[in-house]
Amino acid sequence: MQDNNINEKNREYTKEMKTLIKLFGDLINKEELQQKMEYYNENIELVIKEIKYEIAIAYLSTCLLMVMFFLTNKQKKKDKSKPESTVDDLENVEQVQECTKEIEKTEVGEVKPGINLQGYCTNETCLASKAKLPVWVNIGFDAISFVSSNTSFSCPDCKKLTVSSIVKTMFYNSEHSICTSENPTPLKDNNYQCSYAIKSGLLYELKANKIIQHAKSIEDLRERSEQAMNSTEIKNLVTELQKYEII
Ligand SMILES: [Zn+2]
Repeated sequence: MQDNNINEKNREYTKEMKTLIKLFGDLINKEELQQKMEYYNENIELVIKEIKYEIAIAYLSTCLLMVMFFLTNKQKKKDKSKPESTVDDLENVEQVQECTKEIEKTEVGEVKPGINLQGYCTNETCLASKAKLPVWVNIGFDAISFVSSNTSFSCPDCKKLTVSSIVKTMFYNSEHSICTSENPTPLKDNNYQCSYAIKSGLLYELKANKIIQHAKSIEDLRERSEQAMNSTEIKNLVTELQKYEII
């Protein structure tokens, strides 16, 4: 009876070992499988669970290794390409500098506060004139009038009164007004920087004043704020907002 039981147990064990070899024989050798069966008291379900767990761990480790390998490689490539990109950067800087030089080359003179006029010098010996470059004439804070196609402003390059035509004006840091024989109503503004194209053959009147500090003192500022708060516009706005229950 006992022998039968032992035989039965052995048969069962051989069958289970065969199953394990069939399932995991490629990955784990027979001896190791036997050790696992021994460890788990021949409970095949636990052995399978354990092996599956080990496989999962091995799989994850491989994945992690691959990711690390990929990242390290990427970093190496980046490091290798660094000197090249520096060269690129230098080239870019040079290109930008060249570009800036180009821009600088295309204009003579600079913009200053007040009225600035851009025009062309006709002095044959002037370099700006030879290169057909527009020049900036600084007038400052003043009121002037001129016919755009017939002027004699001083050239910033040759210093002669040979800037004979104006194509553009720029008011810089000023309260200003501009009007023409075509449009006599003055256009007023007090922007930091404002430019207008000048049409050929028209009479222009330009005016530029320093921007006045409107609030001269804190007292004055308070007074102005109070006046603004009591103004009809603000009162109407408050009524409107109250209507929509915003305030
Ligand atoms: Zn000139």
